[in-house]
Amino acid sequence: MTNAALAPRIGVLALQGAFDAHVAMFRRLDVEAVCVRTLDQLAHVDAMVFPGGESSTMSMLLESSGLFDAVNARLHDGMPAFGTCAGLILLASTVLDGRTDQRFFGAIDIAARRNGYGRQIDSFEQSIPVAGFGEPEFPVVFIRAPIVDSVGPDVDVLASLNGHPALCRQGNALVAAFHPELTGDVRIHQLFLRHVHARIAATHRQ
Ligand code: GLN
Repeated sequence: MTNAALAPRIGVLALQGAFDAHVAMFRRLDVEAVCVRTLDQLAHVDAMVFPGGESSTMSMLLESSGLFDAVNARLHDGMPAFGTCAGLILLASTVLDGRTDQRFFGAIDIAARRNGYGRQIDSFEQSIPVAGFGEPEFPVVFIRAPIVDSVGPDVDVLASLNGHPALCRQGNALVAAFHPELTGDVRIHQLFLRHVHARIAATHRQ
């Protein structure tokens, strides 16, 4: 862990997918963000972002890099995590329509159905209200996105689309079925950062 009394260091899993856009978003917010590809890099971050991309490929690369078990241990130790799209799938407790050998962390009690919005509408954009954000609505980009089929009783659903949870939070995990990092709207990244700060402050008081 870093000595992150005031300034957290955010790690972005950078094995595959849209990690650069997350790094750019945090830098825009003046927050240190680093790519994580190795155990050593993981050891020096306070929180992790799991980007969009291809969840089954990321699962394979997490295993071959030796990161899977180490990330899993950090998550179960309470490290804050933010997953977008494929990252939501990686953090889910159940994955439907995944590859049979695909692994996931179970950091949030949701069932994610891969490519649940159907291939005929591979990607789309619209705006949806997010609990606590007020106006304007949040611009969302869905790209071969997972559908959240069900959520456990301890999950807060902060936004939905067509009756399906699209932004969910439980404990130290925040997940979006869409890509807030591909919009100019920083509010969901700020929401995550507020949680990271609170967690660091709580850890320091112990
Ligand atoms: N379809 C991808 C998967 O199953 C997710 C797509 C995305 O992250 N944009 O992992």
